[in-house]
Amino acid sequence: MRVLIAEDDAVPRLILKLAVEKFGHECLVAEDGSEAWDIYQNANVQVIISDRIMPGLDGLELCRRVRESPGSGYTYFIFLTALGEKEQLFAGIQAGADDYLTKPFDPDELRVRLLVAARITALHQELEQQKRELERLNQELFEQGRRDPLTHLGNRLRLMEDLTVVAGTAERYGKRYCAMMCDLDNFKSYNDFYGHLAGDEALRTIAQAILKNCRDGDMAYRFGGEEFVIVLPEQTTATAAIAAERLRKAVQALALRHESKTPPGVVTISVGVAALEAHEPKATHLWLKRADEALYRAKQAGRNCVRVAGDGWRVTSDV
Ligand code: GH3
Ligand code: MG
Ligand code: MG
Ligand code: MG
Repeated sequence: MRVLIAEDDAVPRLILKLAVEKFGHECLVAEDGSEAWDIYQNANVQVIISDRIMPGLDGLELCRRVRESPGSGYTYFIFLTALGEKEQLFAGIQAGADDYLTKPFDPDELRVRLLVAARITALHQELEQQKRELERLNQELFEQGRRDPLTHLGNRLRLMEDLTVVAGTAERYGKRYCAMMCDLDNFKSYNDFYGHLAGDEALRTIAQAILKNCRDGDMAYRFGGEEFVIVLPEQTTATAAIAAERLRKAVQALALRHESKTPPGVVTISVGVAALEAHEPKATHLWLKRADEALYRAKQAGRNCVRVAGDGWRVTSDV
């Protein structure tokens, strides 16, 4: 262990140092409380053995500061008290000390104290490690619960959580958002024809194409089976529709053969675009509903095309 001795009296300081080193520990020394505090903040110390009365910062204050500092790991604090100063023991332990040693000290007692200190600090280290591991696992679980395992995009839970943030930002700062609701065309027959595993692969490929087409700040999610939602900040329906059209073309350009549709061709998507109207109550719910309605119109129009909610504007399509 690394032990810090804070003692203004030179003789006991030296005797303690020699004893601590004899028991196999590294030893740092401070001639008063302030120096001890400085050393403590810069060195990773496991044990402090501190005198009570010192110029500047006294032992009690040093102990309080150590206990209040967030520092890494637990520091075992031992007070040095003169024989007969029993009433001061209480104040020391109350300030956060773990143990005490009477002056003039007995080397065997010091040895015992340091053994206990080693045990306690090791326990604290173990606890810290377990805590960190739990926090890591918690974070991992949190992420896992919000990621779609097939495509690795955010899932519906993440979308719903992000929408709350989006709604707040739109409301407070007047930031504009658009959403794209994308759905694979004739995907049931793709599955029936090529099998479910090939269908999964197609979903993964299209998710990648979606990510590739996203700009910084865009957020893509798997909304359901073969449906994806992309949230686009700072877009009007006109610019979002252009982005949707770019995505539609990119999916078509993947040229994933789809022989079972009529006429045979490649896998395509239909897209509905809608802007967030921040002033509406339940705004995000209605927002997605409008995007979904626009998507429905795209399907009705023959698929592989983009439709915008709220107007009849039709972006180019190959249908
Ligand atoms: P439309 O053009 O009208 O959207 O027709 P569609 O066949 O795509 O629509 P429908 O809703 O009838 O079928 C959706 C299909 O998506 C059915 C289902 O098998 C498939 N699907 C949904 N989730 C998954 C998945 O995780 N993996 C695979 N392989 N297929 C899925
Ligand atoms: Mg003193
Ligand atoms: Mg579909
Ligand atoms: Mg669908």
